[in-house]
Amino acid sequence: MLLSDRDEQDLDFTLKQRELMKYGECGKCGYPVEREYLVCPKCGTQLKNECKQCGRSLDPDWKICPFCCTRVRQSSRH
Ligand SMILES: [Zn+2]
Ligand SMILES: [Zn+2]
Repeated sequence: MLLSDRDEQDLDFTLKQRELMKYGECGKCGYPVEREYLVCPKCGTQLKNECKQCGRSLDPDWKICPFCCTRVRQSSRH
């Protein structure tokens, strides 16, 4: 069952990526970052969005602030 093996590896990789984010390392350069950091101070990678309305840090995936219901403007990375 090669396919399921590969799926599990992909899942494992994704989980590890999430672990790293949770423990506060920049996903790009590995620099240790605090939970509250919005960007990596070393390489400038955006780690979180900040709500313009209430100023809380938001997950980059979030489209709306769960604290004040303000729509989050996604930073375009093209
Ligand atoms: Zn970085
Ligand atoms: Zn907000």
